[in-house]
Amino acid sequence: MSEDHGIPARTATRAVHAGEARHKFAGSLINPISQTATYVFDSLDAFTQFKAGDLEGYEYGRYGNPTQQVAEQKIAALEGAEAGLLFSSGMSAVTSTLLAMLSSDEHIVILGDCYRQTVRFCHMLARYGISVTSVAAWDWEALARSIRPATRIVLTESPTNPHLRVVDIDRLVSLGREHDLCIIMDSTFATPINLRPLEYGVNLVIHSATKYLGGHNDLMAGGVFGGETDVAAVREFQRVTGAIVDPLTSFLLIRGLKTLALRVERQNHSAMEMALFLDQHPRIRLVHHPGLPGHPDHTVAERQMDGYGGVVSFEVDGDLEATRRAVEALRIPYLAPSLGGVESLATHPATMSYYDLSREERLQIGITDELVRYAVGIEDVSDLIDDLDAALSRL
Ligand SMILES: *Cc1c(COP(=O)(O)O)cnc(C)c1O
Repeated sequence: MSEDHGIPARTATRAVHAGEARHKFAGSLINPISQTATYVFDSLDAFTQFKAGDLEGYEYGRYGNPTQQVAEQKIAALEGAEAGLLFSSGMSAVTSTLLAMLSSDEHIVILGDCYRQTVRFCHMLARYGISVTSVAAWDWEALARSIRPATRIVLTESPTNPHLRVVDIDRLVSLGREHDLCIIMDSTFATPINLRPLEYGVNLVIHSATKYLGGHNDLMAGGVFGGETDVAAVREFQRVTGAIVDPLTSFLLIRGLKTLALRVERQNHSAMEMALFLDQHPRIRLVHHPGLPGHPDHTVAERQMDGYGGVVSFEVDGDLEATRRAVEALRIPYLAPSLGGVESLATHPATMSYYDLSREERLQIGITDELVRYAVGIEDVSDLIDDLDAALSRL
């Protein structure tokens, strides 16, 4: 879909060049920011021609912007998608896509361990007459049982958060084909560097571009990528509801995307090193990382992914207090939600993202008191490991 200028189309090259015109405004090397709310027509006839599809251009800021389009085409090229659409956040991509595709009396299945607000939104859909079933990402029997004639969508993430479970996409796609379902995968944790779900027959891929795609912890955006017809349906919806990405954010996203391959390769490598370090550490009880041979989905991850991603979760051999002390003793990562940026970030899910659940409720979904999520940045991994070692020695 995007211009390829005859430039070789391997992933890292696409990240730099895809979606961009070779000749830009005023001979500019970098794609300009079209910071405008509306667009001008030379005549009423021109407007009529534009509406008939006979004249290219833009109409009004809510319907699309040239800077946004470059960012969309760049990510679409990385995912191997026909089309893409950006939003003001990952959650606006999730909610708009689901609302655009579902009608009352239909049913959606959501695989477990999905982003918490995505799960909450799916349960809100009940208010609009859309029913939802949650099943564990690895429970294929429960998944098959959950499918009914009204089922329209199966929504999943891979790798999941915070346990980094990896969904067998071949298996999910064949189930989807058998029942004529739309398979939607939130691929935020994988990034198109490590996994391209559309190549496996997934229908739509969603990203929180706030994370790896932007990559610098300085913007919020989200997107949906897939076939032209599906994306056009979501675009029609967005034209009305208006959760658009703004031109400046689009510019920052384009800038971030150019280094995506470099950053993710570094993050893959560092997270793997940290997982190996933690795996043999006497004060660590359990490490969740799909690159470790002991991880329940290691074989699937090895088969379908080009890298295991930049997040490692682990459980400290101690109690809630000891874990909190260890997390607070970390000097390099910031204590903050989010992931995928150049700065390492650590979270204690029991205190942070799941603060509002009782201990029993948390344990039911595997959020133990001792669980720590470490989202690796691009710092030198030896420094990260030394820092972790020092923090764990406080236990
Ligand atoms: C962060 C995140 C989201 C939500 O994205 P925002 O940009 O924060 O709205 C959705 N899915 C996953 C997997 C995420 O990590």
